[in-house]
Amino acid sequence: MEMMPSRTILWFRRDLRLCDNPALLHAARDGRTVTPVFVLDPTLIAPSGAPRLAFMYRALRSLNESLDGHLVVRSGDPVSIIPELSAELMASEVVVSRDYAPYGRRRDGAVGNRLGELGVDFVGKGSPYAVPPGTVVKSDGMPYSVFTPFSKRWRQIGWADPVEPTDVAWFGAGDIPSEPIPDEPALSCSLPEAGERAAHARWEAFIERGLETYDTLRNEPAVPGTSGMSPYLRWGQVHPRQLLADLDDLDDSPAHSVFRQEIAWRDFYADVLFHHPDSARHSLQSKMDKIVLDTGAAAHRRFDQWAIGRTGYPIVDAGMRQLLATGWMHNRVRMIVASFLVKDLHLPWQWGARHFMRHLVDGDIASNQHGWQWTAGTGTDAAPYFRIFNPASQSLRFDPSGDYIRRWVPELEHVPAPDIHAPASSRAGLPLGAQAPMLDHGVERVEALRRYRDAMGR
Ligand code: FAD
Repeated sequence: MEMMPSRTILWFRRDLRLCDNPALLHAARDGRTVTPVFVLDPTLIAPSGAPRLAFMYRALRSLNESLDGHLVVRSGDPVSIIPELSAELMASEVVVSRDYAPYGRRRDGAVGNRLGELGVDFVGKGSPYAVPPGTVVKSDGMPYSVFTPFSKRWRQIGWADPVEPTDVAWFGAGDIPSEPIPDEPALSCSLPEAGERAAHARWEAFIERGLETYDTLRNEPAVPGTSGMSPYLRWGQVHPRQLLADLDDLDDSPAHSVFRQEIAWRDFYADVLFHHPDSARHSLQSKMDKIVLDTGAAAHRRFDQWAIGRTGYPIVDAGMRQLLATGWMHNRVRMIVASFLVKDLHLPWQWGARHFMRHLVDGDIASNQHGWQWTAGTGTDAAPYFRIFNPASQSLRFDPSGDYIRRWVPELEHVPAPDIHAPASSRAGLPLGAQAPMLDHGVERVEALRRYRDAMGR
């Protein structure tokens, strides 16, 4: 019987691209034949919401097209699937882009052990970040817990330029068995186009129409002032290095500098989660767990009202409805709705984080859990339980015309600004069919501060 030549497996996870992919370059070095694989892991798929799952399947289809149909899809536990496939192919090496999130690290540890027993090398090359988690440390080797010094050091360490794609000889689906990419789950929202080409098209369009005004418009949810790159970064259809390479390197463009800082936030939260894996579920500052929160049946009803966008606070309702309709929400509004859940409704940040992960197309465990913890005052921010967003003044400031609210809360379509920010207290009063405020922000603000002081013994 003819012996199959030794092969290299490239196991794709959250890096669904061929350009500037260090794992691919390593796998294909010296003209080696590469088997591209994606494992449908039930542990990750079960908790994924429909938008993220549908976007991932679309991204896989697009990747498979770029691979001329060679993507091998297998479903099951990667700890069995990858070693079995290695044996099937008599592979000598499995190459991945490193995963730094808690589950990914545990999984990769177990896969690496099994492969080691089979004499197969498990090689990590590259990561989804400009600077991989664990790299940016203080002079004493300790990690940073505050963003600004982290970002300074991050910038000093820097990143390599993107690398050109290479020709690869693929050996995969068509040569060996593969499952189909699953059908999409039913969707009740519209999604951006997926795939590496769509990612670059979006980025090019943003360079043309938005990058130069990013610093001034990024906080205004009514205008397309941000890049919309988050779903593509989430699934590695583009690497942050590729975006950073297009920014002005000198600090004379505030817009470019601010954009670079946002990419630094993404790396920062991945770094914090890497050093504190428990912070995916628990407050980073455990002393904040002493604050009394509401969790009974009434709390669940109030949560449901928030989740469907019926709080009676127009900017909050607009954000929650944008999330349900598009799988995305503007960053400023994410902060406002998160603050409302924690400080006005007195609910655990974890409830909101779970809802976001279920509905966001860019849902990412590090950015999401730490975005929530920052707003809840339980995370990396040094000051800030006292920072309680006033929904009406936030909306007056960042959506002065009320256009964002009108887009998502049609009951308020005919309410002029500034009344639209708090229509219940305007002279004209609430229009017919509009939701009355479910609570009084002034009262709940005092209540949040009281609970905080009680917990801290002040
Ligand atoms: P842009 O403003 O164009 O920013 C460019 C990129 O920088 C983004 O795509 C993102 O990768 C990164 N970035 C920007 N702001 C942040 C930030 N505050 N933290 C981390 N990275 C940032 N982002 C996610 O990618 N996934 C999440 O699950 C997620 N959950 C969040 C939950 C809460 C409560 C909050 C307050 C923020 C969350 N963010 C999350 C961060 C931010 O809201 C989104 O990254 C941003 O809105 C995506 O839109 P954009 O690509 O147009 O952003």
